[in-house]
Amino acid sequence: MSTTNLGSSSDSQPATAGRVLLIGASRGLGLALAREWVQGGRQVVATVRGPGRTGLHDLADAHPGQIEIEALDVTEPEQIAALNGRLTDRTFDLLFVNAGVTNQPEGTVAQTSTEEFVRVMVTNALSPLRVIEALQDRVEPAGTIAVMSSGQGSVANNEHGGHEVYRGSKAALNTFMRSYAARHRGEGRPLVLMAPGWVRTDMGGPDARLGIDESIPNVVRTLDTLRGTPGLHYVDYLGRTVAW
Ligand code: NAP
Repeated sequence: MSTTNLGSSSDSQPATAGRVLLIGASRGLGLALAREWVQGGRQVVATVRGPGRTGLHDLADAHPGQIEIEALDVTEPEQIAALNGRLTDRTFDLLFVNAGVTNQPEGTVAQTSTEEFVRVMVTNALSPLRVIEALQDRVEPAGTIAVMSSGQGSVANNEHGGHEVYRGSKAALNTFMRSYAARHRGEGRPLVLMAPGWVRTDMGGPDARLGIDESIPNVVRTLDTLRGTPGLHYVDYLGRTVAW
């Protein structure tokens, strides 16, 4: 597997990735990631937005002592700061920002309302970087910072268009992570932009190519493989490099 590496190489593998901070885990891929990690024996702090009961609460009940649930709407900077305050004496081996939204796939970017454009861009591109900047000190020096991107974020592979605003938001996310990586060049952390494949969730829809069980265990395996490999990696669930 080849990777795009904007950092330095290191032989020092962290001994464990046992403590995970997962942002956006109420349902879909985020909930599946939480399940995969607790079943693998890891300790997970995971967030939901809103006060309602979610699948994450059921998972936490089924795995007593392994999941702590925190509240976070990633579009609210004061909630990000408050979460960082609550976790101030904690560190994690992995920070994974999963939260994301889409909009109706038809139509061109120019046909999209400003309100809808801002909603998708703020949630998918601006907010993950705000979360990462605010919580980066909660991550061990050789720990991993990962964010859920998408194959649709690839500029190079955009031969057919469609999903224009969503694509643009994930391409923007990728570019912002690339700037973050450039600013943190030479540090010990793997930085990962993950493309999970097209997966059957509320967002992916029933016609998606992959089931959650075909994607998420491989996402977790790929993240484990990248431990100890500092620099920025834009990879899919099978660990294959995605063209920028
Ligand atoms: P999903 O089923 O729609 O779940 C989206 C998750 O993001 C939910 O937990 C949702 O929380 C959370 N979220 C949305 N806005 C949020 C906000 N402002 N603050 C905090 N949490 C927020 O989607 P999914 O398919 O699991 O997708 C998860 C991630 O994978 C997204 O980043 C998506 O872009 C990416 N992705 C998905 C696919 C796919 O085929 N499914 C492919 C490529 C990339 P609520 O329950 O509170 O709404």
